[in-house]
Amino acid sequence: MTDYYQELGVTKEATQEEIKKAYRKAALKYHPDRNPSKEAEEKFKAIAEAYSVLSDENKRREYDTFGKEPRVDIGFDIQDMWNSVFHGANPNRRVWPARDVETVVYISLEEAFSGIEKEVKYKADSPCPDCNGTGDASGERIQCPRCQGTGMESFRRGNFAVQRTCPECGGTGSIIKNKCSKCAGRGSIKQDRVISVTIPAGVPPDIHMRVPGHGGSGGFPGYGEVKGDLFVHVITQPHDDFIRNGDDIIYKLTLSPAKATLGGTVEINNFLCQSTVEIPEGTSSGTKFVIKGKGMPRFQGVGRGDFYYEIAITPKTNLSDQEKELYRQLLEKELYMQLETK
Ligand SMILES: [Zn+2]
Ligand SMILES: [Zn+2]
Repeated sequence: MTDYYQELGVTKEATQEEIKKAYRKAALKYHPDRNPSKEAEEKFKAIAEAYSVLSDENKRREYDTFGKEPRVDIGFDIQDMWNSVFHGANPNRRVWPARDVETVVYISLEEAFSGIEKEVKYKADSPCPDCNGTGDASGERIQCPRCQGTGMESFRRGNFAVQRTCPECGGTGSIIKNKCSKCAGRGSIKQDRVISVTIPAGVPPDIHMRVPGHGGSGGFPGYGEVKGDLFVHVITQPHDDFIRNGDDIIYKLTLSPAKATLGGTVEINNFLCQSTVEIPEGTSSGTKFVIKGKGMPRFQGVGRGDFYYEIAITPKTNLSDQEKELYRQLLEKELYMQLETK
């Protein structure tokens, strides 16, 4: 059985102020707008339930004495409670949730190999500079049309008439007269942001890097700013010469028919691998060789993957007369050999 004190992370001796503060903090964290998972929603409900009991001295005393009765409907309205905590103190400012923001960054294989510091540009909600995040242009207030200035409204739940704080004005009976024109009363506007992100060497070809606190700002009246996260989607663009396979690299090494037939040394020289390799006599297309430790850096480990080079034999074009003559002689020789073996 859940302990309400544990749920809110307070001690049994916590004051009402501490309980309220703990609930506010937890509610912000798990609010479905900020945190749209099933788990967060359950947690959000659980802390609301805990708060509904502990914030009421009578219910709290009962709970302290008898504990939680299984399956007792304690009857509370999450929205109501939210309003009482977040709107009550600083009315008529709507909660604007802190949203996570995603932005895409493309890098080359060379950059993925060496790692790179990238400047990332994106847009995210930020407190409106004109109204200082209040949404209020003039500071003047008029009577709330929803509750006619009473601050309360009634509705029916089953057979009961229930009174609750007016959600429009947060119980104050008045609302902002002139909304800020820059943000249309929202308190937040989208703004361009720039951040420098360090992309580590060996970064996988498609990855989301989380930058905590650099997403959209959210605001709650009187309780300051909350911040979402930025997710930088790092995509490594395909390379013309290399195929990446995890930390390994596959490279097509092109040889002329003569080189493949006779074998010999070949230079491999690129940003991954600088090496002189020995091609055996009579190597055919598709043969693979490996140079250990010359692939991509291992992202979360030490060392590097391997560098595979695969032989591709390409016929020569634009032959000189002399080359043509030599090939013709070769071909003739092949024909004689075929006749002899018959
Ligand atoms: Zn504004
Ligand atoms: Zn009202």
